[in-house]
Amino acid sequence: VMNYSRFVTAVSAARKASPIRLLTELQQKSPPSLISLAGGAPNPDTFPFKTATITLKNGGHIVFDEGIMKRALQYSGSYGIPELLSWMKDLQKSLHNPPTVSYSPERGQMEMCVTTGSQEGLCKVFEMLINPGDNILLDAPTYSGTLAALKPLGCNIINVPSDERGMIPKALKEILSKWSLDEVGKPDSPIPKVLYTIPNGGNPTGASMTTERKTEIYQIARDYDFLIVEDDPYYFLQFEKPWAPTFLSMDVDGRVLRTDSFSKILSSGLRVGFVTGPKPLIDRVVLHIQASTMHTSTFTQLMVSQLLQGWGQEGFLKHIDSVVEFYRKQRDAMLGSADKWLKGVAEWHAPAAGMFLWIKLKEITDTQRLITEKALEKEVLLVPGGVFNINSSEPCPYVRAAFSQSSPEQIDLAFQRLSTLIKE
Ligand code: PMP
Repeated sequence: VMNYSRFVTAVSAARKASPIRLLTELQQKSPPSLISLAGGAPNPDTFPFKTATITLKNGGHIVFDEGIMKRALQYSGSYGIPELLSWMKDLQKSLHNPPTVSYSPERGQMEMCVTTGSQEGLCKVFEMLINPGDNILLDAPTYSGTLAALKPLGCNIINVPSDERGMIPKALKEILSKWSLDEVGKPDSPIPKVLYTIPNGGNPTGASMTTERKTEIYQIARDYDFLIVEDDPYYFLQFEKPWAPTFLSMDVDGRVLRTDSFSKILSSGLRVGFVTGPKPLIDRVVLHIQASTMHTSTFTQLMVSQLLQGWGQEGFLKHIDSVVEFYRKQRDAMLGSADKWLKGVAEWHAPAAGMFLWIKLKEITDTQRLITEKALEKEVLLVPGGVFNINSSEPCPYVRAAFSQSSPEQIDLAFQRLSTLIKE
């Protein structure tokens, strides 16, 4: 049975449930006949909004009548609104089917909470788990938002070598071999207790981890008793089916915290993400939410929930298919233009998921100045790769190109300009 107390920071341990928030949860689950004089919620009758109708591209509508609108404008529980939570729990069960052993009564159930984008989920998870001086494992280059959340916590970030198939288990084992297994938990030798990874369509590398590597890494996590933070916002943007098994789907112990996001498939501005994991840890994430955002916008949760209830899982997956189709064409267009303009001056791997191409410029040791000083003159913008490194001032020959927003013609022109720039 997992004992989570060793993983939890002093800050997190000091977080206590808000009595007012608990009342809000209770109220949310109570029949309408309940008369509540509790809490400090304002009266939505005083708010200026009455109803809302959102028209969908397929001609359908989401209608907020006066009753729903009052709910949408009001505070709600910190785990998320019940109907959205239960829809997402069903989705997680059918997509990942987490092994029931980790969710037996004595270990706690699988639990989930809604977050304001997966970024909030990550921040809360790190705040819960990372003490100053802790060693954290990740495969850099990695998402700059993760580094922004992690670095100020004063942890020591250990880079585990990776390639286009993700983190390399052998390299991970080598790093860990300097801690003997009986040193687990010794304060003067903090064995890494968290491994963070983006398993599909990595940002910025586009890399996706193979199932074999995931299986091996999960076993290493068991041997060395660390948690895995599986940050998977590009899960739904996998170009090949069947979708890869996730760490969550392998989690027999209850050591995986998975962050998901609707940003890439429904809307990034609505800010809806969710965290899934063992109940003791998710309950704790919710304590952190209670003390900051209190909950993700009720309005946007209801909007997403009504859309998903209307679609059902089948409709949702059909929508995903059409999004994937779009990004697949975009990726192929970018690969075609890369072949046309960048062959000889750059190298890349075709991403199997996501929205990024990670390009190594052959003759250029650091792309920072090239991009920030020269590229704008040529009217092309990319992200210099250094921003994704643990030490952002280290020279980096890579750039990240997104194939999400520009048309194939614009992508082609951008690579033509990049090629001229490199040659100059
Ligand atoms: N993780 C990764 C790897 C990302 O690329 C992003 C978005 N760029 C996020 C998390 C945050 O996404 P959101 O908060 O919109 O869900």
